[in-house]
Parts: sequence; structure tokens; C-alpha cells
Amino acid sequence: SAPLLVVDDLATEFATPGGPVLALRNAGLVLPQGRTLGVVGESGSGKSVLVRSIMRLLRSRGVRHEGSVRFDGEELLTASNARMRKIWGDRIAMVFQDPMTTLHPNHRIGFQITEALREHLPLSPDEAQDRALRLLESVAIPEPARRLRQYPHEMSGGMRQRIVIAIAIACAPDLLLADEPTTALDVTVQAQVLDLLSLHQSRRGMAMILVSHDLAVVSSRTDELAVMYSGQIVESGPTAAVLDAPLMPYTAALLRSTPTVDKAPGTRLHTIPGEPLPPERRVTGCRFASRCRYAVERCLTTEPPLAATPGGRGYRCHLPLDGTAAQEALAANLA
Ligand code: SF4
Ligand code: MG
Repeated sequence: SAPLLVVDDLATEFATPGGPVLALRNAGLVLPQGRTLGVVGESGSGKSVLVRSIMRLLRSRGVRHEGSVRFDGEELLTASNARMRKIWGDRIAMVFQDPMTTLHPNHRIGFQITEALREHLPLSPDEAQDRALRLLESVAIPEPARRLRQYPHEMSGGMRQRIVIAIAIACAPDLLLADEPTTALDVTVQAQVLDLLSLHQSRRGMAMILVSHDLAVVSSRTDELAVMYSGQIVESGPTAAVLDAPLMPYTAALLRSTPTVDKAPGTRLHTIPGEPLPPERRVTGCRFASRCRYAVERCLTTEPPLAATPGGRGYRCHLPLDGTAAQEALAANLA
């Protein structure tokens, strides 16, 4: 069957007083039904712009998109606002970093969940109430009947994010976009909330895009991985394959700087030297060249095209780390 989501050559530009600013370029991805995709990269690499562009959430702010976002065969970039409202919640749901982006501070939790349910499903008030109760149970919230009568401020951050997840899955969406869903939470609560997301994702057969600056968060919870740098997807492929043998020097550097992916205890952490290149900055060559230990002359003069391997991997690098080319380049650089 056709993939659920196909993003093709997507670019996003913001109008600013100083002129248009390109925040995302050449983004492409394919997500089959029920599969999970992790999107990783340092902050400011364009991860949030990517998922918000897919969901058309940036529409109202002097934003221009190019390319294509096809969801279940339908082009979203040209869909009407009325059509998008139907798709939001009904077929694509989103969990943001801050639960209060979704929750209204002045309404009881029960009201907010039943409203979300009744907007998309033909339910009586009693049916919606009953459904809300079961939803809270499904996201492991104790004393759900009492919680339904409470306001968001009466709950912990972890509890609020569970409520947001309950609202997101309430209408059984086909695709869940989770943008740094646990970054604002206590470390001990993070894994619980992520496990909850994964549980519902697999149980309901939802596709999921999980965005994180933390490779460890996505490494065990996703089938596919897209690594972003400076407004571009620079490497993609099956998660295990990418993490076992990254082709992009940037991915390798990100791995070296992530403690929990490399399981060897006592491994020293390396930070990636240099500053990330802002996505809007124009360069002639590779966008990672200013920080890449393998960079050669060609990297500064020629933009590496998107290359693909037979194993379904993609990368943008003149000297992919296949074990030899990059080392030769390194040797040549040092010589
Ligand atoms: Fe490094 Fe060159 Fe590859 Fe860019 S193209 S990641 S600078 S080796
Ligand atoms: Mg972000």
C-alpha cells in the first residue's frame, strides 16, 4: 500500500523585516502506516519547523512553503484551512514540548477531553465522559474520575503531558507528531511518558514522528531516523543501521556526544566543536563543513547532493564514513 506520509523537497521560508529567511530546505521523507520516525539534531536545526510545516501549523505567520506534503494521498500544502482543521485531531495529532500549548488553564481536564472528543466524534455528553475516563486510565493516570474535575495547574508536568497524550490519541489519529514531548519533564518521568507514547503507538498502529535533540530518546523507540543539521535532513535510514554505522560525519559526531546510545560505561563524551550554522545562512559547499573534521577542498566549494544507498539510506556528504574514504580524507588533511 502507499505510504501514509510522503514529504518531497519541502522548503519553508519566513518573512522577516530583513527579508525572507529560509528555515528548512530540501526536506524529504517517507513514512509508512504504523511506522515510527525519529527526527534528531541540535536545537535550531529545523526539527520543529519540519514537523510544523508538515502539519501546516506555521501558515498564519508570513510563511511560505515549497515542495509537497502528501498525507494518505492528499496534498496538505494546498489544502484549505477548513480541511486542515478536519485533519488535525481527526487524522494527525500533535504533542508539543509544553503541555500548556494544548491545555487551557481555565478549564477542567474533563471538559477539555470531552470537547476534543465531541469535536471529531458523534458522542453524547455521557458517552464522551465515559470515553474520557477510559482514556485517562489508558495513560496510567490514577484516580481518573477525580482528575477529570481538576484544572491543569493542580497537576504535575508529567501528569499534564499524559493528559495531552490522552487528548492526542482520543480520536485515534493515523499519525502522531511528538515534538520534544518530554524535554520539559523530570528525568525520571521522561522515560515513563516516552514508554506510554510508544505503547499507544504500537497498540493502535499509529505512525509516529518523534522529534528530539537527544539521540538516546529516539534510538530505541523508532524504526527510521532522520538527522537534521542547519535546516536540512543530512542523513536518514533505518535507525539501527544509521546508529551502527553512520555515513555522515555529523551523525557520528552526534553519536559521540550522546552518553546513553554508546553503551560502553565510562565512555568519554565529546562535544561537537564549533557553532551550528544557522539554517538561513547561505554557503556554497557542505553546510557542516565549518565543523567537520574530514572536510576537504571540495566540501567548501560544492554542495554535496543527496545520495542514496541500496539499503534505503540517504546522506549528503562527499566523503561518507564507509570506513575508508573518510579516513583517507582525514589522513590527507593531516598530511
Ligand atoms: Fe564533512 Fe565534507 Fe562530508 Fe560535509 S561533505 S560532512 S564537510 S566530509
Ligand atoms: Mg524545537
